[in-house]
Amino acid sequence: MSSLRDRYALTGMDSAVSPRRTLRAAICCVGRGLHSGADVRLNLLPAAAGTGILFRRTDLAIDIPARFDNVVDTRLCTVIAQGFARVGTIEHLMAALAAMQIDDAIVEVDAPELPILDGSAANFLFLIESAGIAAQGGVRQTIEVLRPVRVEQNGGFAELRPHGPGGFGFHMSLAIDFPAAAIGAQALTLSLTPDSFATELAAARTFTLAGEIEALRQAGLAKGGSLDNAIVVDDAKVLNPAGLRWPDEFVRHKMLDVVGDLALAGAAISGRFIGSRTGHALNNRLLRALFADAANYRVANSLDLSPLQRSAA
Ligand SMILES: [Zn+2]
Repeated sequence: MSSLRDRYALTGMDSAVSPRRTLRAAICCVGRGLHSGADVRLNLLPAAAGTGILFRRTDLAIDIPARFDNVVDTRLCTVIAQGFARVGTIEHLMAALAAMQIDDAIVEVDAPELPILDGSAANFLFLIESAGIAAQGGVRQTIEVLRPVRVEQNGGFAELRPHGPGGFGFHMSLAIDFPAAAIGAQALTLSLTPDSFATELAAARTFTLAGEIEALRQAGLAKGGSLDNAIVVDDAKVLNPAGLRWPDEFVRHKMLDVVGDLALAGAAISGRFIGSRTGHALNNRLLRALFADAANYRVANSLDLSPLQRSAA
């Protein structure tokens, strides 16, 4: 198995702490927003150590830090804003950046929504891997969960728990349960690494119920939606001609959303996530609950302990 160090030719990696990571080069793509239907140009740019992930509305010259406390809407996607400047559907790109352990990057868009592309994070992952990843100055930080934090809503819940002794990384367990027969009850447990994200989550697409599409359209949403960028389910039927990418693609996508939404913590979370019937609202409330009490967490330097990095030693 190729290590992170081999795959991205990382240099200057200290044996004790992880350096911050950014993109090696700028890269761009164009696409259409799922809800707005607007064409958008996306530029991913390297950024100085300490920048974090910063969204920039180039048409308005306004920057929006990708942080949980800038989230203003979670009804169908995660929207961040500064004043009147908004950027929506950030979660799939945020998931890819977080899973690839990118600490610092600037995300330029010229419209209020990211391109939906194929409805998954696969194209964002491809862009990041094409741009390359570079270690840079500063030490990568981790938010270590110190005691359980739980939020609940509409029969679902989301919880963060501390690791047991010697534990590290981010372990996730998620269950979903939909009345539609094509979805039903699904559950997935995963330890998040760049490789597990790339092979198990990145290509899982967003989904919607056929019966809800008309209501979304009437609400001015899903204007850019099609069978090319979302799974559409009609009870037991999947309407996409090519079918599903996995039988449990739905829970995989919901876990991808959790990764993207929790990336708004501003640094990687070290701990365990357990969720059932989660959504963007619950994911955001979990971060707000985590950070509401300083006894819940500790910000630590990220140690170079992940299995991939360790295998490179
Ligand atoms: Zn999603």
